[in-house]
Amino acid sequence: MMEILFLLLPLAAATGWYSGRRGRNRAALSRDHNPAYFKGLNLLLNEQPDKAIDVFIQLLEVDSDTVETHLALGNLFRRRGEVDRAIRIHQNLIARPTLNKEQRAQSLLELGQDYLRAGLFDRAEGLFDELVIQKLYQVEALRNLHYIYQQEKDWEKCLLMAQRLESLGEPVLRVERAHYHCELALKAKAERNETLADAQLKKALSVDKNSARATMLLGELAMQKGELTVAYRYFTRVEAQNPIYVGEVIAPLMECCERIGNRQVFREFLLRCADKQGSVEAAMALAEMVQTEQGGQAGLDQMIRFLSNHPSLRGLEHLLAMHLRTAGEGGEPLLPILWDLIRHMRESSYGYRCGQCGFLARCLHWQCPGCKTWSSIKPDPYSECQAPRGSGLIVDEI
Ligand SMILES: [Zn+2]
Repeated sequence: MMEILFLLLPLAAATGWYSGRRGRNRAALSRDHNPAYFKGLNLLLNEQPDKAIDVFIQLLEVDSDTVETHLALGNLFRRRGEVDRAIRIHQNLIARPTLNKEQRAQSLLELGQDYLRAGLFDRAEGLFDELVIQKLYQVEALRNLHYIYQQEKDWEKCLLMAQRLESLGEPVLRVERAHYHCELALKAKAERNETLADAQLKKALSVDKNSARATMLLGELAMQKGELTVAYRYFTRVEAQNPIYVGEVIAPLMECCERIGNRQVFREFLLRCADKQGSVEAAMALAEMVQTEQGGQAGLDQMIRFLSNHPSLRGLEHLLAMHLRTAGEGGEPLLPILWDLIRHMRESSYGYRCGQCGFLARCLHWQCPGCKTWSSIKPDPYSECQAPRGSGLIVDEI
């Protein structure tokens, strides 16, 4: 509030003094100031700064000397969340015929950002389109359009915006473009157009060869078609592409393995993922496999070995469940209590975290709901703890 008044007061005083000067011969010195200026001061003294700001803004005439001030004020209001005021200031600016081309374009950009902040995407889109056509503030306008189309889930237009931004020298949006193709593939899959879905996923991989999401979706598509060996190959490829996501493919791989019967190969894969990547999902699947093949204690030993190197709540819960199963009735009475407690803690905890904004989630989001970054949310065993109250971390309550 004070920064706005510091900006406004001297300018409003100068404007009032100037308009008073024009009638100087008829007025006494005390009336050199515009009465509205005193009204504003009065409101300020009566601790009504909001109303005072409105009066000072009305007093501030738009001319070539005050355009920058109007722009700064509008920006300030928007940043403070007072979008209505920002919109009024920028609309007032644009209505002035005296603005030069550059000033008008800058005002359009600011007004577009106000509309965006207010959630008026249609109006914002119209203004940014106008700037792109005029080739003024093109990069800023395209970045905003890119954001709007992502919110509207218009993935074709997102691809177009990304390409146009890249053609203007912006950094290559490889990861984002791959996700847009994945989104289009999901849409095609929902419409039962498997051929188009497959083509979109191949495009995703041609843009970003490390797109684990595209590979996983290709695996799902192959499974759907009953091509289990192909699906198995896709799912295991995630390990080389982006090992952090390897835990996400253990469940479908287990299903493939059960149907194909390639236990030995799968066991080696699990061992590698558990040892090298510290994947708790792989370790759990491996312990179950060992328990089936070599007996209860061997499975428990496998899990304990893993947990001593990679401690996690999820792994501990699984170990206790295995213990309970092995011990049966008449086992250690403390075990069910411990298992229940750990299970409760795990169910109310988070296993994924955004590397950009710290958003905590219980499932994998490919685009962070907090900061809207793609591929920034990753499995994080150390974010299993509950988000502390008042920590400021945004959490996914789905
Ligand atoms: Zn984020």
